[in-house]
Amino acid sequence: MLTGPFLDRNWMGENKDYNSSDIVMLGLPFDGTVSYRPGSRFAPEQIRLASWGLEEYSPYFDKHLKDCNFHDAGDLEFPLGNTVNSLDLIEKNVDEIYKDGKKVFGIGGEHLVTLPEIKAVSKYYKNLAIIHFDAHTDLREEYLGEKLSHSAVMRHCGKIVGFENIRQVGIRSGMKDEFELMKKYNTLVKEYSGLDSLKDRPIFVTVDLDVLDTSVMPGTGTPEVGGLSFNELLGWFIYLKNFNIVGADVVELAPDYDSSGASTAVATKVIRELLMTMN
Ligand code: MN
Ligand code: MN
Repeated sequence: MLTGPFLDRNWMGENKDYNSSDIVMLGLPFDGTVSYRPGSRFAPEQIRLASWGLEEYSPYFDKHLKDCNFHDAGDLEFPLGNTVNSLDLIEKNVDEIYKDGKKVFGIGGEHLVTLPEIKAVSKYYKNLAIIHFDAHTDLREEYLGEKLSHSAVMRHCGKIVGFENIRQVGIRSGMKDEFELMKKYNTLVKEYSGLDSLKDRPIFVTVDLDVLDTSVMPGTGTPEVGGLSFNELLGWFIYLKNFNIVGADVVELAPDYDSSGASTAVATKVIRELLMTMN
């Protein structure tokens, strides 16, 4: 009999038992609709490995990963090339997480994975709001005639929860009519206080990592300069500590575009800190 010890290939600090966990981390390695550079399908696996390079303790929140009580469920396996079936698979699994009284923490993959998550979560929380961190508006109706595109994800989510229930942070790229939609519903937030009206609401937080500046996060499919520093993003997370976050995801790391591995390390730390806000 082999006695090991063997390397743990799951996320550092996880609760190995699904049943007693509060949060379920779900790897979503899907990148079928990206408009520029694919590769985010490799992110969940790389992030999981990189987690072992982090400390379990967050000095920013004075809290351990273990206190977050999350279970790493592994990665869903997608019928790659079939967007509709892939999204259905996500919705079904996320639905099961909420049926079991837990919260999802999705790890993309591209940003379109947020749509089936919102479809599932909104069934359990009627007045769900969304806080969206991104460089891009993601409010297109379609991209090259394709409605199911990562650049249209917030448009579709807005139809589910209502555009007035979306707040966006870090947006700096999009088409004129998308910016007009943002103005119409006042979704763009530049100061923390812009989130205060969501204080008593259930909130889903979606972080497209290209919200960070390209100097911090070159390993992403659609890099857009002029973005947030890590500490600026962290400032928003710390502000969210007293909000009711019922689900979250972190998407769009494409690890192979940054051979230094630094983008993956940044993404992993973003995930650790966002987990801290969830209970
Ligand atoms: Mn983006
Ligand atoms: Mn996006």
